[in-house]
Amino acid sequence: MTDPARSETHADAPRPGTTPPTSAAEVDTHCPYCALQCGMTLRATPERVEVRPRQFPTNRGGLCQKGWTAAELLDHPDRLTTPLVRDRHTGKLRPASWDEALDRVTDGVTALQAAHGRDSIAVFGGGGLTNEKAYALGKFARVALRTRQIDYNGRFCMSSAAAAGNRAFGVDRGLPFPLADLARADTLLLVGANVAETMPPLVRYLVEQKQRGGTLIVIDPRATATARQATLHLQPMPGTDLAVANALLHIALAEGWADREYVEDRTTGFDAVRRSVAGYWPAQVERLSGVPVADLEAAARALGTAGTAIILTARGAEQHTKGVDTVTAFINLALALGLPGRPGSGYGCLTGQGNGQGGREHGQKADQLPGYRRIDDPAARAHVAGVWGVRPDDLPGPGLSAYELLDSIGSPDGPRALLVFGSNPVVSAPRAGRIQRRLSDLDLLVVADFVLSETAAMADVVLPTAQWAEEDGTMTNLEGRVLRRRALRPPPPGVRTDLAVIAELARRLGVTGPGMADADASGPTFPDDPRLVFDELRRASAGGIADYAGVTWERIDAENGIFWPCPAPFRPDTPRLFTTTFPTVDGRARFVPVEHRPAAEEVCPDYPLYLTTGRVLAQYQSGAQTRRVAPLRTAAPNAFLELHPDLAHRLGVVDGDEVRISSRRGEMRAPARLSDTIRVDTVFAPFHWAGVARANSLTNDALDPTSRMPEFKICAVRVERA
Ligand code: SF4
Repeated sequence: MTDPARSETHADAPRPGTTPPTSAAEVDTHCPYCALQCGMTLRATPERVEVRPRQFPTNRGGLCQKGWTAAELLDHPDRLTTPLVRDRHTGKLRPASWDEALDRVTDGVTALQAAHGRDSIAVFGGGGLTNEKAYALGKFARVALRTRQIDYNGRFCMSSAAAAGNRAFGVDRGLPFPLADLARADTLLLVGANVAETMPPLVRYLVEQKQRGGTLIVIDPRATATARQATLHLQPMPGTDLAVANALLHIALAEGWADREYVEDRTTGFDAVRRSVAGYWPAQVERLSGVPVADLEAAARALGTAGTAIILTARGAEQHTKGVDTVTAFINLALALGLPGRPGSGYGCLTGQGNGQGGREHGQKADQLPGYRRIDDPAARAHVAGVWGVRPDDLPGPGLSAYELLDSIGSPDGPRALLVFGSNPVVSAPRAGRIQRRLSDLDLLVVADFVLSETAAMADVVLPTAQWAEEDGTMTNLEGRVLRRRALRPPPPGVRTDLAVIAELARRLGVTGPGMADADASGPTFPDDPRLVFDELRRASAGGIADYAGVTWERIDAENGIFWPCPAPFRPDTPRLFTTTFPTVDGRARFVPVEHRPAAEEVCPDYPLYLTTGRVLAQYQSGAQTRRVAPLRTAAPNAFLELHPDLAHRLGVVDGDEVRISSRRGEMRAPARLSDTIRVDTVFAPFHWAGVARANSLTNDALDPTSRMPEFKICAVRVERA
């Protein structure tokens, strides 16, 4: 039977065979940036590559400025088109041949592993890599380098929601329903999500939801562009979202709005949560969070009495030392109201990076193998080892999480070499000054990138790689929908794809053909053809949680993307999860009691203000790409510090003054931007810039105990006129 969600989701999609054929000079693909993965068409003209939005269920013909200008980097003067190596005499990077650069890598790796063991080599990936690259990188680490030390920058973005989702539902798929459901929700609660700046085309769904008479509630310490569109904006003190969630549940239970039948039939653990939220009296939570009781009651009523309701969390709720528990508190609320699995209702996480979802499913995470399998699960190891043509015992065990991995450089057992693909931790890691110093302690730093990012500028070897319009592959968007990325043109001379780099490194390390030990695999172990890699990924993921076995490039084309799990080519995909059961041992979702606790660093007389960090509309992540795009640079030329006019008055600061912001870990400088949209006890800085304007010089490297996600969203700072 056809899943109604499936057909509704695709109502605005072209039917199979009706998509106008694209010429060789024109392809339908997706934006290279965020997880919305807006559909776009690229057309090559003699002068340039043109970008046009196209109809796709996530963007419905819209693009943000980043998408419109994405092609400007293809022929940018900063584009790297030759490998670089650090000259041993001058200490400077100089052009080199691919042979020299790759020899430098493999000679270094071989010597370091001989002297210090396999784990002396570490790999750091990215949430923007295609599924094929993420898969190949994980396999390269475990099979070619045989190191346990691999993790990726997605640990900084989505890991808390992932851990909470796994704990409650037995699965982590950002949105367990199609994005189109947002427009149908009578009440929509966004927690720590500023989609008007991070994913502007998504705002169409919010507008539609409100036009249908829906209620939009936003929880955010700032009155962001998204919060300003809300019916109700709760503006809690940073770090108190968990208490707010527990108070909402407290009110919902007191008012009798829980769905007792759903709780009884589909969940476990409710009584413990009911007892734990009993102490979250609204008046007490008002004192803790600053959110008025009346607003807490209004939000609880809007959720508890709605016919359909959706709760979404994003980085604002997740990037805390209690991020997993904060997300869990909102999941508890959703479960008590009977939302997950009902059309137009549910809980979801708004994934950030372009392939943040797929990037965490296929093996570049320290504790995972492809298909979202656990690397410490013997059955998972046996299955993946069989696909890879190695013995299960040859696969290393779990490694360190991203920040711990970077921070262990220079320690006796820490990495001596680091291979970085698609990441710029010098700007994006918390306590970035410390990480920058750690990187400088390496014997060998290798960075594959297409521009000289701040991390690449520190490298011993820089490998120039292809951009998104120059390669095929697949991405998995925030809905868990697997999409096709299509190449418009080949990479320029001198540039290789990441898959080709990985394949060649594996070959030079002696891992080719039939693999290792007594394995009997045939053919190349590390193909550089993305279609071959994807076919292998399908087999490796088969039977796993994120099962891609039935996803083919042909089906993606014909069905406008495929939602995982999709276990066989003839089986339907899964746009909506949890309709009848949860993928837990007993088929029930789990309530987990969680308690508010302070942030790792609270304000004090020396550092009396809260700093929270985030994004701006015209920049993306570490800014290595978007800071080089002229229209984006014009729109958002530099970092700034947003502060309330009352606070500015107290500090003797006027709009535009250069201010120095200090934390216990470092300082940054930026012009002051006065705004009464922010709490008077809190300042905000975007994290896209480097050097003196690097917000992550300040951020706290304290980690969530479960997800190992750093506490980017709150630390204590002092602000002075510079
Ligand atoms: S950056 Fe995100 S919202 Fe903007 S066009 Fe690209 S995919 Fe769409």
